[in-house]
Amino acid sequence: MDITGIRKDFPELEQKVHNHKLIYFDNAATSLKPFPVIEAIEEYYSKYNSNVHRAGHKISSLATIAYENARKKVAKFINAESNDEIIFTRGTTESINFLTDILQDSILNNGDEVVLTVMEHHSNIVPWVELRNTLGIDLKIIDINDKGELDIDDFGKWFSEKTKVLSITHSSNVLGTINPLKKIIKEAKKRGVVTIVDGAQGIVHSKVDVQDIDCDFYCFSGHKIYGAMGIGVLYGKRALLEVLPPYQQGGGMIEKVSFDNVVYSSVPYKFEAGTPNVGGAIALRTAIDYIESTGLEQIIEYEKELLDYATQKLLDIEHLTIYGTAVNKDPIISFGIAGIHHYDLSTLLDGFGIAMRSGHHCAQPLMNRLEIDGTSRISFSFYNTFEEIDYFTDKIKIVKKMLI
Ligand code: PLP
Repeated sequence: MDITGIRKDFPELEQKVHNHKLIYFDNAATSLKPFPVIEAIEEYYSKYNSNVHRAGHKISSLATIAYENARKKVAKFINAESNDEIIFTRGTTESINFLTDILQDSILNNGDEVVLTVMEHHSNIVPWVELRNTLGIDLKIIDINDKGELDIDDFGKWFSEKTKVLSITHSSNVLGTINPLKKIIKEAKKRGVVTIVDGAQGIVHSKVDVQDIDCDFYCFSGHKIYGAMGIGVLYGKRALLEVLPPYQQGGGMIEKVSFDNVVYSSVPYKFEAGTPNVGGAIALRTAIDYIESTGLEQIIEYEKELLDYATQKLLDIEHLTIYGTAVNKDPIISFGIAGIHHYDLSTLLDGFGIAMRSGHHCAQPLMNRLEIDGTSRISFSFYNTFEEIDYFTDKIKIVKKMLI
């Protein structure tokens, strides 16, 4: 890949931070945006900003076509069987809240069990804890081994005849572990369990094929795959979407309304009440175009090389521990250095222009499991370079000398 050329597409990389060239290693939180995505948003708002579906005029039909083309693009990107299986949301968090909301009105009852894993992001924990408190469901939490891989040799331990839902992350935003989704979902399906995948990280670094994974639902956010903030996706199998109740009520999701009765629209429109984020959907389509024209396979391969290189360099630093050493890993490295608080490290590295993250990464139960209060985390994208990793590890050594 022509990394120098690719970097020119990302205007944020041009700037200096504290008089140093920006090194952006916080990609798991959100990715930078390439020019085509920024231009797609500008073009929509300056040329054909209009509400979709409900008007007969020219610019509304342009907006509607672009919005529906975005749906088609997403469907093809994740190999959904039909465009109607793609629902636009605000992001992963809303997609999961959407599901906990509609499943409590349909599938889940008091005493039912929901299986999660200890490596979930808060967005796939908090809504379920709320449901435990309000509906009386039980939560079963799959544990990890020392490498940060799921303990799934004995499914009988985690699933019972009361299990109704499995909600699992595709990959961990802390450990980087890529979970063996197909294997787990196959076991869940054997037991008639509804399966939900939090793909917030997984969508960024894998070729997702929802039919092959065979999950019932797959959730992700546009902003982590070079799209805008405020747009996300909930993929759902059509057969389930047909029978589930809507998430929100209002305009755009109805066939007929009277004060006595409401007839809902068909899937997916019954799940998209109100004015959608049209500009966000169009930008997401452009982001996917950008990924495809760069080459997803090449991206994945290059990011893996960055991961391996950085892992080796970090392991050479004394007193440094890496959390998450799974065989299958996304390009995310969480680590700690004995004697240095992770906040001090990220603050001092910021002074050298390095943007990285420290803290619990919205995964406090995982921090408890690891018996730590937080980590430093770097996460790569295909615009990062080996030279940036060298610079980063050199600066860590300087900070170590300052603090220890
Ligand atoms: N799930 C995982 C694994 C994540 O890493 C994140 C964000 O970092 C989320 C869910 C929430 O995504 P969003 O804030 O875009 O809704």
